[in-house]
Amino acid sequence: MQNSTKIIATLGPSSFAPQEITDLINAGVDCFRVNFSHGDGNAHQPHIDAVRAASKILNVHIPILADIQGPKIRVGNMPREGARLIEGEQFILTGEDVETGSAKIANTSYQFLTRDAGPGTRILLAEGTIELHVEKIQGKEVLCRVITGGLLFSHKGLNMPGTRMSVETLTEKDVADLAFISESDIDMVAISFVRSVEDLNQARRLLLGKKIPVMAKLERPEALENLDAILDASDGVMIARGDLGVEMNFETIPVLQKKILQKAAVRGKWVIVATQMLGSMVNSPRPSRAEVSDVANAVLDGTDAVMLSEETATGKYPTEAVDAMARIVQEAESILPHSVPEFDADIMTFAAGAAGAAVSAAERIHAKAIIALAGSGVTALLLSKWRPSIPILALSAHEPTLRRLNVLRGVIPVKILEKSDMETQIRMADGCLIQKKRAEAGDPVIVVAAIPLGQKKETNTIRFHKVRSQDAAPI
Ligand code: PEP
Repeated sequence: MQNSTKIIATLGPSSFAPQEITDLINAGVDCFRVNFSHGDGNAHQPHIDAVRAASKILNVHIPILADIQGPKIRVGNMPREGARLIEGEQFILTGEDVETGSAKIANTSYQFLTRDAGPGTRILLAEGTIELHVEKIQGKEVLCRVITGGLLFSHKGLNMPGTRMSVETLTEKDVADLAFISESDIDMVAISFVRSVEDLNQARRLLLGKKIPVMAKLERPEALENLDAILDASDGVMIARGDLGVEMNFETIPVLQKKILQKAAVRGKWVIVATQMLGSMVNSPRPSRAEVSDVANAVLDGTDAVMLSEETATGKYPTEAVDAMARIVQEAESILPHSVPEFDADIMTFAAGAAGAAVSAAERIHAKAIIALAGSGVTALLLSKWRPSIPILALSAHEPTLRRLNVLRGVIPVKILEKSDMETQIRMADGCLIQKKRAEAGDPVIVVAAIPLGQKKETNTIRFHKVRSQDAAPI
């Protein structure tokens, strides 16, 4: 049985091998994230090619989500075994080169640190496990007192919660990566540390007209202050709980997650819940019980996708992590009722009306599926926002469209021949339902379409249909 909630896995050394990619897809991965925090486009191209090759063999439509690094601030080189910062001691962050840091000093490449920080600024290192308070700025050095000590390793993150950062959201590296993405066949892009709509607009400009979905990663308090506008300007959002949980008090994250998901649903936007979902599975073949509940609660909150990071990128048990996630998702979905999204007035289109009508008609006739005939994909997106318990088959002749449809909750993309007429498309959908054992001949389904097909019309038709058992099958 296929899950409705989609699973995203981050590629990394644990999952680069072609066999590993195949195993992850078979275990339930619907989309791969390529993390541009580690490497540029050229470094990632072989992994993108490996996903394309595995997808072709398995006859699936797996998209690639490029996650660009953004202005992530890190400390420089530290000793291999790390350096232990001691509570109460002084610690210096410096803009000067330091070959290897120590328990007294570390380098940071953040050029505006001495401008943005001042006496009293709170600095968190290594996912917030180490806390410093700034006492004094001296030339290129920021003199801090260690409030909470801990072990600091090379290149760990540096956050300054509550401090406005002078750095631009899109760095030089991001600009180069977006240029690469604009020429590649990457399917979606996530922009890190978004603060305003302008950040997203700038990213779209840097994509040079390439029309791919742009996701805003929510990990800065400013993004939450501008949430409505950011949702309107993006195709979706990622609740990036790693940095968000350091920038904001961690106890606020579960409530924020629910509020973001509610706001996104009425705007018809796509949401990914990310980070530490099965974190213990980096080193263990079984998840902790708390992680199981976290994944299940994200599903019950109505997320479209759940994401694995280190679990599949560097963990010891990547396939087990995907398998565990799929099992948890499936169990949680068994009690999730369909939603009734009160779409915002500006998306009260024919497609939105048809989506609602199709879901309630499907319930009344106990339909086995809803079939969205080939179009722009908007009807499939809005159908997906209703979270019906039955699959939504979304038809298209175009591989990039099929891959993007694959991230939508509950949507199964089905490849059809170019310029297929309505009856042919329905026959192919019937074949797919029978092949995937999602329906039998004679079962009722609902078909939604914009007639005449292929003319970019608004969705205007809902048809009741019984699955026929001719031998048409999806391509
Ligand atoms: C996060 O901070 O939660 C996140 C997803 O970002 P990254 O993995 O790029 O740090």
